[in-house]
Amino acid sequence: MDIEFWGVRGTAPVSGREYLKYGGRTPCVSVVSSKGEVIIIDAGTGIKRLGERLMAGQAAAELHLHLLLTHFHLDHLIGLPFFLPLYSARVTITFISPLSPLETEKHFSGLMGGRYFPVAFKETASAKVLKRIGDETMAVGSFTVRSSPLHHPQGSVAYRVEEGESSLVMATDTEPPDGQTDERLASFASRAGVFVYDATFTPDEYLRRQGWGHSTWLEGTRLARQAKVGRLILSHLNPDHSDRQVDEMVSLARREFRRASAGREGLRLKI
Ligand SMILES: [Zn+2]
Ligand SMILES: [Zn+2]
Repeated sequence: MDIEFWGVRGTAPVSGREYLKYGGRTPCVSVVSSKGEVIIIDAGTGIKRLGERLMAGQAAAELHLHLLLTHFHLDHLIGLPFFLPLYSARVTITFISPLSPLETEKHFSGLMGGRYFPVAFKETASAKVLKRIGDETMAVGSFTVRSSPLHHPQGSVAYRVEEGESSLVMATDTEPPDGQTDERLASFASRAGVFVYDATFTPDEYLRRQGWGHSTWLEGTRLARQAKVGRLILSHLNPDHSDRQVDEMVSLARREFRRASAGREGLRLKI
């Protein structure tokens, strides 16, 4: 599978010189299978560019995309109205989320409705399929997808995407339950090739932010060791952390887990 990061910033998009290395767009990751099937995880502002790329290569062809949503906080959803494939009659999008199709559609319609946006979700030209994911394993082309609940206000899920021996686990928007390592997540991420984890806070900052639903690079390294993952990617970067601060976080994380790095826009991993 071919993994590409389109947005790694959590909470709110940022721009400016201090964010050029890792980027200021909010969460979006694409995963392309060996057969060319496309899964997208989250629809933060990073999805805008991905949409442009997908449409540029598809002058006449039909396209079927699968969009997995971890939860509905704005930083993970705000790019959806600006996602070009949504407006193409040649595109089918299967939306997968932990909520029922009815609830999911209600949230999309709220985002793209009223005085917030001039085009209603239902009026857009793409064909849409809405599915809920629970405990089951879902087949998406040659991928299998599973989800697992995380610890986050109003809920969030981690996704595990597998193709053959390759696996990606995305686990942002979570924090250690009661200050303890999240055993459920450690087993969900077991031996994942790539493990993406929430590094919103430094350990010091976290002491003042418990209950906010976000975690630290240090907890990421603990989970990475316990789950014996191949690589740890620190993501959901804090909008108040500059490139220099993220560099510092990565060098500290590498002392605990050697194969640690931070997500950045344009980072591509073939596994
Ligand atoms: Zn978030
Ligand atoms: Zn959130």
